[in-house]
Amino acid sequence: REGLAARQFRPGYQPKISLTTGRIVGFEALARWQHPTKGLLSPDYFGSVFAEHELSIALGEQMIRQAAADVRSWLDQGLECGRVAVNLSSADFSDPELAPRILRMLEDAGVHPACFEVEVTETVFLGRRTATASSILNELHKAGVSIALDDFGTGFASLTHLKQYPVDHIKIDQSFVRNLIDDDVDAAIVTAIVTLGHAMGLHTTAEGVETEEEGAILRQAGCDQFQGYAYARPMTAETIGSFLIATLSRPMVMPWAS
Ligand code: C2E
Ligand code: CA
Ligand code: CA
Repeated sequence: REGLAARQFRPGYQPKISLTTGRIVGFEALARWQHPTKGLLSPDYFGSVFAEHELSIALGEQMIRQAAADVRSWLDQGLECGRVAVNLSSADFSDPELAPRILRMLEDAGVHPACFEVEVTETVFLGRRTATASSILNELHKAGVSIALDDFGTGFASLTHLKQYPVDHIKIDQSFVRNLIDDDVDAAIVTAIVTLGHAMGLHTTAEGVETEEEGAILRQAGCDQFQGYAYARPMTAETIGSFLIATLSRPMVMPWAS
């Protein structure tokens, strides 16, 4: 509560890399708490905030507003940052005005909705919220905001959700990526998700890619993009600025992604 009031929460940005071009195609904003005495904290430490209705909504608001401001600042510096994604919680979806609120924050910052993505997990589709979630996502999608289904394959009735909601992008959960090399079943699941995604005209991103070998297998499976320590950890907005300047003069092409 104190951290939120003092605006000590900031997005950390993790690059998303194209497995066909090896270039940065966007970023995911992940909440980080710049604690006055404990240093930089991740959701491992404060994740319970997302279960607290009001706090979660307040954090979501700060994250979206800050991400929009950072996109504006990168664009003002002439830096192409691609699409920037923000995670939404179930609490965020309790607000029927969520879509116009997000669109207004983008407009205030002068950021086009096509530069923005929201990542949702399947929990937002469960229970009473189904109808609200559907109209919120439809409104965002219609305005040009991309919709990503996070942690795909770990929830309930994923395939039904692909049919019911305006999903643009599937994020393959890192639990399938972790054992990709040794586990034929995980490799089969990843290939199946990629094939399904492509058949439906959706992008696929693999999460938690830690080694070049995993990247090579994902590329062979036809996966579009990846995120993970193999390329970069989440970074501050300022670091991303210099990172983008560096990639402008010297494209960071991964040997296994080109
Ligand atoms: P997520 O959305 O699935 O985010 C991916 C998590 O994997 C992040 O953890 C990221 O730092 C971590 N990660 C990225 N690459 C690798 C890798 O190569 N190896 C491993 N082992 N991990 C990797 P993080 O930042 O601790 O976030 C954890 C979860 O907290 C997120 O999972 C998301 O569900 C939630 N979260 C984070 N920020 C927000 C936010 O602003 N709003 C909401 N509602 N949830 C958030
Ligand atoms: Ca996410
Ligand atoms: Ca995820």
